[in-house]
Amino acid sequence: MPSTTTSTLTCRLCGSSSLSSVVDLGATPPCELFLTAGQLDEPETTYPLHLRVCTECWLAQIPPLISPEETFTEYAYFSSYSTSWVEHAKGFVEDVVDRLRPGFVVEVASNDGYLLRHVVDREVRCLGIEPSANVGAAARERGVPTLTEFLSPELGRRVRAEHGPADVVVANNVYAHIPDVVGFTQGLRALVADDGWVSIEVQHLLTLMELNQYDTIYHEHFQYYSVASARRALASGGLALVDVELLPTHGGSIRLWARPVEVGAPESVAVGEVIAREEAAGLLDISGYGEFAARVAKVRRDLLGFLVQAAAEGRSVVGYGAPGKGNTLLNHCGIRPDLLSYTVDRNPYKHGRFTPGVRIPILPPERIAEDRPDFVLVLPWNLKGELVEQLSYVRDWGGRLVFPIPSLEIM
Ligand SMILES: [Zn+2]
Repeated sequence: MPSTTTSTLTCRLCGSSSLSSVVDLGATPPCELFLTAGQLDEPETTYPLHLRVCTECWLAQIPPLISPEETFTEYAYFSSYSTSWVEHAKGFVEDVVDRLRPGFVVEVASNDGYLLRHVVDREVRCLGIEPSANVGAAARERGVPTLTEFLSPELGRRVRAEHGPADVVVANNVYAHIPDVVGFTQGLRALVADDGWVSIEVQHLLTLMELNQYDTIYHEHFQYYSVASARRALASGGLALVDVELLPTHGGSIRLWARPVEVGAPESVAVGEVIAREEAAGLLDISGYGEFAARVAKVRRDLLGFLVQAAAEGRSVVGYGAPGKGNTLLNHCGIRPDLLSYTVDRNPYKHGRFTPGVRIPILPPERIAEDRPDFVLVLPWNLKGELVEQLSYVRDWGGRLVFPIPSLEIM
């Protein structure tokens, strides 16, 4: 059973010092700091990666050892490189525009405009707020008005004063990335109209725990939400959770719908149902966390066992994808180029660079068809449906795909 640590850490949401260990993944570098060839001879800083859960409010969290400013100023993740993600965003926009008829939409962490470009297409006024300068510039190039800023209560008030309140505020895949969860939530409240809507997509702790998705734990993800802990986080900024949807994205996400508390909107049946599932899984008491570290250790043993055997038999293994989560997996497992010669990625920013820590070279995807490896280890396993199809050509030479999570699968 996990024990309550004696450290001086406190919960960033409720202030309790009762933080219980869930899994300790050792010390690794920040997962988005891909190295250039010139950086290979330089020192590389690592940070402990230890997930704990607060036994008062049940927010799972890691200490904020790196600041968002360190990673977001030249962020390498361009959402538009994922076909399924762009389609997901388009469907969301169609639904919101048709159902809520907003006059003004603001998206926080709007990335390269992968979502707001669909709002522009529907001729609805919008504004993106994106902290990464290079990613925000890409959004502006495709006609999406974008501020290069971090959301704070002050910025929220400034945007409201300059542009008016937003009928819909969208914050996808960012609610885990901000160490000041209370200040960020207050910022959302400042942006949204008094009768408006806030829509947040974030990874679901329930699927993380149930499906061994431990590689989604990394330094840039400061907290991991159940619907129960998210409801509490929203309340800290004056927002009331009114509905939740379960989504398949990122291996299992929740879309939270919140409104200013003053609206007095009732909670949907779905909210109660999902929280009941979280309760049954032991996530709202300590019982659901006890076996996780042992399951993580098994994922590591199985993957390493496979790679060591393949290397011993002289079979070639390369990677597909260089997502942030891949770097948690590669570093935790200790997988270096002797076991995985290289990986490939669709994002040209990463070509010629190396994964942090274990320093696997990243090449363009065409390399796989040229080299015809025996196995392709798929690191963005959450895109399995899309990638099994995209990579079907690997079978032409008898190659096989390998998925490491939730448990080793060779297909
Ligand atoms: Zn807490």
